[in-house]
Amino acid sequence: MSLTRETVLDVLKSIPSPAGGDLTGQARAVTVDGDTVRFVLEIDPAMAEAMTAAKSQAEAKIKALGAASISVVMTAHSTPKAPDLKPAARPAPAGPERVPGVKKIIAVASGKGGVGKSTVSANLAAALALEGKKVGLLDADVYGPSQHRMFNITKRPATGDGKMIIPVSNHGVTLMSMGMMTKDGEAVVWRGPMLMGALQQMLFQVQWGELDALIVDLPPGTGDVQMTLAQKTFVDGAIVVSTPQDIALLDARKGIDMFRKFNVPLFGLIENMSVHVCSNCGHAEHIFGHGGVAAEAEALGTPLLAEIPLHIDIRTTSDSGAPVVVAKPDSPQAQSFRQLAQRFIAGGIV
Ligand code: ADP
Repeated sequence: MSLTRETVLDVLKSIPSPAGGDLTGQARAVTVDGDTVRFVLEIDPAMAEAMTAAKSQAEAKIKALGAASISVVMTAHSTPKAPDLKPAARPAPAGPERVPGVKKIIAVASGKGGVGKSTVSANLAAALALEGKKVGLLDADVYGPSQHRMFNITKRPATGDGKMIIPVSNHGVTLMSMGMMTKDGEAVVWRGPMLMGALQQMLFQVQWGELDALIVDLPPGTGDVQMTLAQKTFVDGAIVVSTPQDIALLDARKGIDMFRKFNVPLFGLIENMSVHVCSNCGHAEHIFGHGGVAAEAEALGTPLLAEIPLHIDIRTTSDSGAPVVVAKPDSPQAQSFRQLAQRFIAGGIV
């Protein structure tokens, strides 16, 4: 048998766990890099001794697969407390790296473009800043970066010492975007390795400073950027944005599956363009249907984090350089985003 992540997982599956089931129940962040295998065993400290025996058994079997170096880190797991939003405690990163100074990384994803992923990212970032949090926003939507426009940023980021990029900020949010690295209107054809390099640079060679949260606005779908982010960087969790209509498509589910595969917890789903509220008469209409995202969230056993109305103010404020949360902080449209931010804070995520 060859040494692959799958064969390592098979080995872990073949070993009974003292906590019940097999060792895959405790294994986190399993990576195989050449002949080096790394993973974390998240254990109940009361079972440390029994787990050590199971760990030795796993090491012997993985060695037999051809591994030259095996690094298994045992960490104590803590039981997550209510509310439902809180993800299960995760071990210190064994493979993916944390961005220095950044406490939490939250990825914002969607199955397809145009569903409001960037709008949600911008407003969530600005709403967290309004709550007094130190927030960064990384626009990794390489195919259609829009955050610099929503935050009215025309300046290019500077490079202080020639090595680190100094990001720009506005509306209380520190921002870095692929859109700031290219000229307006310039077509960018990023290829796989280039994309990965650019993303790594935006994460690790930017002076983010101390941040409570870094929101990453991903491109739609499941491509190189998502994979690179999930594999190389410790992402605390992801949210998936969809319209009621699009959730029926398989795209959003594919995104959810991808995060699961990379051990990135799903914080929940957001239904955008949930209900259209007429700006003249206030009449509410479910243009794209209603309840689809809630049903999907229930099927997935994940929270529906917010239902954002379809309202002209949300678009016009973004287009004129300030997310609605900044431009009209007391409007009902802003409230749905502000409640989302408050929910993240109450849930201990930020
Ligand atoms: P994505 O990042 O998924 O491609 P965007 O956030 O860029 O989508 O949104 C696409 C367009 O829809 C933008 O013009 C944006 O201003 C608008 N939009 C997004 N959400 C809403 C909403 N809830 N109400 C009104 N317009 C919205």
